[in-house]
Amino acid sequence: MGYPEEIEEFNERIRNAIVGKTPERKIWVTSLSYCLRKAALSIYLGTFKYERTGEMLVGSVLHEWLGNALSSEDIEFEVTVEYPLEDGWKLVGRVDAVKGNYPLEFKFKGFNGEDESSPKTPDEMNEPPKLAKEQLNAYLNMMDKKLGYIYVFDRNGLSFKPFPVERDKKAFQRILRRAKVVIEGVRQLESGSFPEWIKPRYGKRECGGCLFRPICEAVESK
Ligand code: SF4
Repeated sequence: MGYPEEIEEFNERIRNAIVGKTPERKIWVTSLSYCLRKAALSIYLGTFKYERTGEMLVGSVLHEWLGNALSSEDIEFEVTVEYPLEDGWKLVGRVDAVKGNYPLEFKFKGFNGEDESSPKTPDEMNEPPKLAKEQLNAYLNMMDKKLGYIYVFDRNGLSFKPFPVERDKKAFQRILRRAKVVIEGVRQLESGSFPEWIKPRYGKRECGGCLFRPICEAVESK
């Protein structure tokens, strides 16, 4: 005889606690910008904290510096946001700062000029980075705000440019659909099968520096 849903969920928590795994039913907004199989594996295996790249660490240091340098009563840094999804899952994120009614995201970028046409300073940029826009838009929707700003900083000189981002409900629906894919992927992993149908968002080049590459390669070579 099967167990009621609540009891089965509790049983699963006990099993996870025994093997030292926390069943965190949360999906980070940032993880939805990349391979969703990676996001599912990361939740299932609890490896999120081990996936920080050197680039991300440099970003963290600069974010911390900015928070310390600009701290005042009218601005809040590192604001946690949550949005409920199905079956106890939630979408979570950390907005870099909130000033008044405006969520702010800080991006630190190198301007080494990959080619002649690429911008050499934040001022030369016409648009904010696409993924930063996608993430800030998710926060705007989660926080029920209409407008936010992405500050792009030159990592070397710290010149900057703020880009306004207006709330886009349709784009947020796409993010929610991506979150559903992750939930499905985790469910599949929990039931003992591998979500091979979830493909990397940017093709195989995304697999290069991925922690899960050996697992994916082993499964896909069968
Ligand atoms: S190796 Fe590639 S397909 Fe597998 S999780 Fe990583 S990015 Fe996704």
